[in-house]
Amino acid sequence: MRTRFAPSPTGPLHLGHAYSAILAHDMARAAGGQFLLRIEDIDQARAKPEWEHQIYDDLRWLGLSWDGPVMRQSERMAAYDSALDRLWRRGLLYPCTCSRRDIADALSAPQEGTSPAIGPDGPVYPGTCRPDAPTGHPARPRPKTHHLRLDIAAACLASLNDSPGAADNGSGLAFMETGAAHAGPVSTSCHAYETQVGDIVLSRRDFGTSYHLSVVLDDAAQGITHVTRGDDLFDATRIHVLLESLLGLPTPIYHHHPLIRDETGKRLAKRDDARAIARYRADGASPNDIRRMVGL
Ligand code: GLU
Repeated sequence: MRTRFAPSPTGPLHLGHAYSAILAHDMARAAGGQFLLRIEDIDQARAKPEWEHQIYDDLRWLGLSWDGPVMRQSERMAAYDSALDRLWRRGLLYPCTCSRRDIADALSAPQEGTSPAIGPDGPVYPGTCRPDAPTGHPARPRPKTHHLRLDIAAACLASLNDSPGAADNGSGLAFMETGAAHAGPVSTSCHAYETQVGDIVLSRRDFGTSYHLSVVLDDAAQGITHVTRGDDLFDATRIHVLLESLLGLPTPIYHHHPLIRDETGKRLAKRDDARAIARYRADGASPNDIRRMVGL
């Protein structure tokens, strides 16, 4: 078993992060496995070295040790770039040339009285500038000046063609979930990909990648067998499973855990400094106090 903790160094770690990290760590250690650390710093405008150092310091203070070198996403751009090239050459990506305004207008246009479905990245993209024919082509260089969207219908079909077993049973793409809220096999049909996920952005103009693409490539590169993370990412996992299939990567087992909430029921946010581990440390709490606070 190999688990990981993958924080973004864009603010202090809070109780929710502590819960996630301890859970992944203890799960690996109990099984005699490994626990790895990854710094998700593709958002270079928001990532700060001082937050990264604070992460190492807080994790050590919590008594967590990690195996092997720390992976940093900012050092992995070549891997993201080559995966995007592969998907582009298969005709599965297209440049999104419409403005946010165009998309908002399309979303607000009356559509038989139904409101747009909300997918893992917000309202499902209405296809405003999806081309009629695939644009990715070996002879055409991949454009880097626009967001690139995944043609989700074509991607789902391509992935089922790659894995005939999944196509045969008609249920689409599946993964195994062990978190209590959704435990069991979870599958997504191509119809559900189209209507509930939509053409997600796989490469942002400003990052040259996206959370979804990077996390999938990095989990595979780190050999992660069990992805342990918050329930807020459960829906995004459908995207990850599709990308794993398209890129020929193994699908790990997923374990989505409940989110730690404040006393009003709101999930903790990065800016919620009051729940920062550093604050509890400064106030004299012990690592065991933190474990108790998060119910471990
Ligand atoms: N970097 C993400 C975060 O800080 C976690 C991503 C993941 O666990 O897949 O919320």
